[in-house]
Amino acid sequence: MFKVCVLGSTSKGNSTFIKINTTSFLIDAGISARVISKRIREIGEKMSDLAGIIITHEHNDHIKGIKALAKNNRIKCYLSDETFGKLKNKLKNIDIELIEIGKSFSLSSSNLEIIPYESSHDSVDPLVFRIDYHQIPLIGYITDCGFLNTYLIDGFRGVKILFIESNHSFDHLLQSSYPEFLKVRILGRKGHLSNWAAGEFIYEVKPQIAILGHISEENNSPEEALAEIETVLAVKERFNLPFLVISPNGSRSTVIKGKL
Ligand SMILES: [Zn+2]
Repeated sequence: MFKVCVLGSTSKGNSTFIKINTTSFLIDAGISARVISKRIREIGEKMSDLAGIIITHEHNDHIKGIKALAKNNRIKCYLSDETFGKLKNKLKNIDIELIEIGKSFSLSSSNLEIIPYESSHDSVDPLVFRIDYHQIPLIGYITDCGFLNTYLIDGFRGVKILFIESNHSFDHLLQSSYPEFLKVRILGRKGHLSNWAAGEFIYEVKPQIAILGHISEENNSPEEALAEIETVLAVKERFNLPFLVISPNGSRSTVIKGKL
């Protein structure tokens, strides 16, 4: 059995709950510990069961709740050496395990394998992840990534569930009131993914379910994200993909459940 629930995915806070058989964990903890705990209870899960928190990068919207959450619940944090360098103060007295690009790790004695891939973002060592169960690619998790390449397409091809950021509509961003430097940052190779880029990646990787997250409140909307991605897929003659689009209003998603 697997269960995925996006607890929040906006520029104000990102965290996703994943449970595979009996092993549950979070990717990022960028929402307050109180809200994360509440949302985990709402979906019938327990904080005390969490086997770890995996951190993509050090930006505040991905780590805001980490200190209180990890400390109060004695949860181990998994992050890269360079990211740890940025978060040392927040992670004092917290059990950590350093992870590395290309070196898989597991959270328990389960048959889970988590493989960190290099992302392209304006942080010290941004990571995205593929999660395998019994050596079968189950979940791909890509957020805060300015540039998708064949290394990621090959790495994520065939995952059953793909969480991917669909940050902005290109046209919407160009016309927005954002200052020029911010537009350049978002559109740059170390920024965020557009709807169009997410659509291209979904087409290449061909997941069974796509979850669209990190949708900008200013430069996108769930409707625009879905419409633009469906246009990409329609051009490529692929229509029949179930989508879950995460609202940028900070609420949690519905729960995706399935058999392994
Ligand atoms: Zn970021």
